[in-house]
Amino acid sequence: MSDWYKIDRQGDELLTDIQGFLKSVLELDGISGVLVPRRLPVKDTVMPALVSRPGFLDDADPLAPAFTVNSAKNLSRLTRKGLDANIAAVMRSCEIRAFVELIKLHQSEKEPVILIGMDCLGALTNRSYPKFAAENPENSSDVFQKARLSGNDPPEPAVMNSACRICEHPVPEAADIIIGLYGVDLAVGLFLQAKTERGREILEKIGASPAEAPKDRAEVVQNLIDERIAARDQVFEETAAAVSSIEKLAAYLADCVNCYNCRVACPACYCRECVFTTDVFEHDPMQYLQWADRKGALKMPTDTVFYHITRLTHMSTACVGCGQCSNACPNDIPLTELFRTVSHRTQAAFDYEAGRSTEEAPPLLVFKEEEFSEIVGIGE
Ligand code: SF4
Ligand code: SF4
Ligand code: SF4
Repeated sequence: MSDWYKIDRQGDELLTDIQGFLKSVLELDGISGVLVPRRLPVKDTVMPALVSRPGFLDDADPLAPAFTVNSAKNLSRLTRKGLDANIAAVMRSCEIRAFVELIKLHQSEKEPVILIGMDCLGALTNRSYPKFAAENPENSSDVFQKARLSGNDPPEPAVMNSACRICEHPVPEAADIIIGLYGVDLAVGLFLQAKTERGREILEKIGASPAEAPKDRAEVVQNLIDERIAARDQVFEETAAAVSSIEKLAAYLADCVNCYNCRVACPACYCRECVFTTDVFEHDPMQYLQWADRKGALKMPTDTVFYHITRLTHMSTACVGCGQCSNACPNDIPLTELFRTVSHRTQAAFDYEAGRSTEEAPPLLVFKEEEFSEIVGIGE
């Protein structure tokens, strides 16, 4: 039996069909809310919203290329202390993978959440989205979606997030239901894949019709992944060369002002209290002068490279490549490229992939002292 379902087209707009589907889910007994990107009434922008009344889903816009926050952080807020209700959440692939990491770190709970993953068309940088939306006031999501599904970049002034150019996960994996966009005939209907029994139950309850698996989908998705992997490997090579010594790494991070936006935006930065926001790095005033004296000049603020090395040490096993660190940086430091390059190697070393499965224990929880003793020189 196929795990695909279809809802016939309700109108001309794909977005209207998605909104209709979400309303049917929210109207089911036992579903109290839908977390979904939604157009704000006060400004032409799109932010995640927890919608509890179906009428408010008329402004839901999960096709918008706005990606100002990784909603794994929102789901963590909603479920960390226990949620006595069920909600559905419409998420990008990198949001679901970050959510998986947070579940394993006991900072989120899967049980109350029905994950609706959507094939991801990517997103624009935080800076370019408002310009792109202003340029296309009536239909920015539609312009974006049509460009991406025909294999193109959206027109200027849109600038794609660098993370999305190298993302090998355009199709979400650990979801209950997937909204298919790649390799499906969108003129015929909305194609939905049940990835779990819970997902199948929901689709049957809302009356979606069983459908054949879209025949071109596997090939379309594989070609996309191959392209992204080629682009990704080139970025890895260039970034590794750009940070191949401590001097080069210092130059790469030279514009860092220690604002910690990248840490706040990162869904995988999991410490409840970060050492960098304690007074550990509030050094004695004379200490700065002594350091300056040693070399003749001291770059300030200090500890910027150390901050990034610490962050890499803590969370490179958990990085899901969502790009929010770069998006959040006021000085345009290409953090995603750095974190992805290092994380890819760290995760490969542990045969681990962040966000792949809740069954795989995070390496830092199961690390054995004698592991890699030949490299780290301890535990022998
Ligand atoms: S990195 Fe970009 S393309 Fe990949 S899932 Fe996230 S938003 Fe989508
Ligand atoms: S380090 Fe950057 S790319 Fe990696 S999970 Fe954090 S915000 Fe996303
Ligand atoms: S967001 Fe940019 S400037 Fe701020 S701490 Fe991170 S790298 Fe440094």
